[in-house]
Amino acid sequence: MNLGRFPRVRLGHGPTPLEPLERLSRHLGGKVNIWVKRDDCTGLATGGNKTRKLEYLLADALAQGADTLITMGATQSNHARQTAAAAAKAGLACHLMLDSRAGVATDAYKHSGNMLLNGLLGAQVHHFPAGTDMPAQMLDLAERLKTEGRKPYVIPGGGSNPVGAMGYVNAALELVAQASALDLRIDHLVHATGSSGTQAGLVAGLVALNAGIPVLGFTVRQTREVQEGAVLALAEATAQHMGLPAGTVRPEHVAADSHYVGQGYGVPTQGMVEAVRMLAEQEGILLDPVYSGKAMAGLIDYIRQGRFTQGANVVFLHTGGSVGLFGYPDAFS
Ligand SMILES: *Cc1c(COP(=O)(O)O)cnc(C)c1O
Repeated sequence: MNLGRFPRVRLGHGPTPLEPLERLSRHLGGKVNIWVKRDDCTGLATGGNKTRKLEYLLADALAQGADTLITMGATQSNHARQTAAAAAKAGLACHLMLDSRAGVATDAYKHSGNMLLNGLLGAQVHHFPAGTDMPAQMLDLAERLKTEGRKPYVIPGGGSNPVGAMGYVNAALELVAQASALDLRIDHLVHATGSSGTQAGLVAGLVALNAGIPVLGFTVRQTREVQEGAVLALAEATAQHMGLPAGTVRPEHVAADSHYVGQGYGVPTQGMVEAVRMLAEQEGILLDPVYSGKAMAGLIDYIRQGRFTQGANVVFLHTGGSVGLFGYPDAFS
């Protein structure tokens, strides 16, 4: 597989480290070897998984002659913040369309964390109530900007389309090369799944490589059925974008679990708070309250329930977002 033929703009500090979590593994009983793939360390304005997607999306935007990026997300969107940083680095204008879907209305949530950084990075932020048709709002703004002579490029929420998902095809290649160099047999790869591009890219890349690594996504919003459908559809579209034959990605390659969402997107859970504290205290690693904290809560519960075999090597993909902790001080006080 030659990814060199897909246009890419370097934004991150890859390859990100693949490291054992020895204290955490022991703390959880020592039967499972937990590893972490540090995509929280991509380096772009505090990093995260959207950096990899934006490397391909920005290349596409520049190829189309864009001078402005438009994207959408929740108020504390990590994707929006990384898009603002990518735009700044490329010298493009950036509009962030943010909605209050999480239902959190504290000053910290509205102004600290990612929101503080969006301002520093020079993005223009537009706020909308929960339930707004955000894709329609983005198209409206794009039309308005065009009448002003601008050249906008619209990035879907989470950067999740086949172009963006190439970032995680690339991550799959990187991970398999690292595991091979370490003689590490990866039995499971787990991570938080939201807009689906991360899991879809990983699945398409791992299947294309015949890597034999099952991926499990812990959802942060949707039910298992809805999420698996979305991931499968995007993984198929990504495989097609890569030129793979139809039918390469199959339903059995896609697995999600929605037991750790709690009350809803961006609403803290006890398991998330425990997971964030545990990773901080055992490993000095900062998770985030919306995605990686809930996914780690799922992984911890799976280990406690004995759902992995003795000696299994489980890689947790840390997708970043720790800046979001500053939007949720009450959850941890
Ligand atoms: C966006 C995000 C995810 C989910 O990735 P998707 O590609 O949207 O499924 C996970 N973790 C963090 C920290 C994120 O910001």
